[in-house]
Amino acid sequence: MLLELAVGDAYGAGFEYAEPAFVAEFNTGDHYVQHRKHHDISPGDYTDDTQMTLAIAELLVDGDAWTRENLADRFVEVYRRDERYGYSTRIHTLLRTVRDGAELLATVDDNSDRSGAAMRVAPIGLLAEVADTLRYADVQARVTHDTEDAVVAAQAAALAVHYCHHRLGPTSDLPRWLDDRLPGDWASPWQGPVGAQGLMSVHAAVTALAGATRLSALLRTCVAYTGDVDTVAAIALAAGSRAADLAQDIPRSLHDGLENGRFGRDYCIALDARLLNALS
Ligand SMILES: [Mg+2]
Repeated sequence: MLLELAVGDAYGAGFEYAEPAFVAEFNTGDHYVQHRKHHDISPGDYTDDTQMTLAIAELLVDGDAWTRENLADRFVEVYRRDERYGYSTRIHTLLRTVRDGAELLATVDDNSDRSGAAMRVAPIGLLAEVADTLRYADVQARVTHDTEDAVVAAQAAALAVHYCHHRLGPTSDLPRWLDDRLPGDWASPWQGPVGAQGLMSVHAAVTALAGATRLSALLRTCVAYTGDVDTVAAIALAAGSRAADLAQDIPRSLHDGLENGRFGRDYCIALDARLLNALS
């Protein structure tokens, strides 16, 4: 799951808010592209979505208490050990200046409904119970995004993984299943460009998942929306990687092209195994 999420994030990063004509020409699904404006991020590099997901996954694997303080510590730790671009200016400025989670909690302006709380939530969906999935997603969201919309978006992204991982139905029924459990209109299909709000990214990802039969096409569908597509792809690929009715056909070129430094591809694969082992 972490590997597919990272591939979605890294692939989508080349197309984040890119011109529709650029997306139409280069969204072939078989290689990473250089973003036209973000030269700090190379093809195959993942961004904030994956890095913060590693923080969540590591806290789950280590089994420490699920508290704001522990989550904030992990968010700071994963950034400081591997500083990178792709964060929103609000969070990036914070992560570059604070020394630990306590300082983050003391200084963060958490009044945000953007997608940062939903993009990192996938590992929580592996928990055995819906109630725990909802609660864990809520707690982690409010560390940086203490708004109802951001919390619901995070809960929906976590439940999408939960639904697929625990085989609760065909992926095509995911929108209806979410609609029965969360506020908002999850059953209507998302259309058009994806903005910065968390509800937008997750809604787009859920629509893409419902129409998907294979991961490779799911990735292209997420990017074809245009807008904040690295986050849409990260959320959708994480859930899709746990879906029994989707062909697991990430192209070899994207697998091999994913960054593989200290916290890159091999690290994601190893942590994936520890995560599934710890939670099942
Ligand atoms: Mg990102």
